[in-house]
Amino acid sequence: MVNAPAVFPAWPGDAEVAVALTFDVDGEAPWLGEGPEYGQRLTLLSQGRFGPERGLGRVLDLLAELDIRATFYVPGHTADHHPDAVTAILAGGHEIGHHGYLHLGTDGLEADGQRAELEEGLAALGRHGVRPAGYRSPGWELTPETLAMLAGLGFSYDSSLMADDRPYWETSGTAPLLELPGHWSLCDWPYFGWTPYHGGLLADPAAVERIWLEEFESARQDNRAVTYTMHPEAIGRGYLLRMLRRVITGMLDRGRPWFATHAQIVALANEPAAGAASPAPVGPAG
Ligand SMILES: [Zn+2]
Repeated sequence: MVNAPAVFPAWPGDAEVAVALTFDVDGEAPWLGEGPEYGQRLTLLSQGRFGPERGLGRVLDLLAELDIRATFYVPGHTADHHPDAVTAILAGGHEIGHHGYLHLGTDGLEADGQRAELEEGLAALGRHGVRPAGYRSPGWELTPETLAMLAGLGFSYDSSLMADDRPYWETSGTAPLLELPGHWSLCDWPYFGWTPYHGGLLADPAAVERIWLEEFESARQDNRAVTYTMHPEAIGRGYLLRMLRRVITGMLDRGRPWFATHAQIVALANEPAAGAASPAPVGPAG
């Protein structure tokens, strides 16, 4: 199936490119979701806890200093066990999206389990008064079952798939759903995430800075939206937050970015043409 890219009017102001900085506040959930024995691994769990308890504050301070709004995808478990993190994100004027409850990969669950992750995540965020419009699947594994459930649960967009580097229309159940694609190369985790069991690269931040700014330049030339994905437990380390600051100021030096939440970008997308998620192409993409 060919997915139709979304059509946008001009970005606000005289911006050339829409930049979505997004942060997945995973906390301990991914590890606890691996199995009950992980509940005994204090070091691994503490590595996750660094995200909401230490890294997040640094991220929020930087965004406040630069007057940037961002989107934070928060598992229900994080919201339940780190309520101050949710409060701080909301106090900064940022958007919160859904990221499962225990960060369980949708591909490892039957349909009932997938629905439970969605509903329990909604309930946990709801306890903070948050009704998320967007969903990002844990570990970026999205199944047809979960995709089909999203619109029926009130979601208007997803940020899990990668079939284009422009926002594009998907179908969830019978309703259109805007896809805001990310990519592993634009995520901090493959470069900087590391565990004794899953490995990692521990890459040179200068190399990642170049890659991310080159992608910004490409998006600027295309006048498209671009999503960067980060994790406070990784990007919130001191040396990496310095990289993030250089990336943002580098964007400001190179062009005219509009730093936007995912919801702000979605609000600008024109309604999809009839059958837009079918092979029928629609107009130039923004
Ligand atoms: Zn995650």
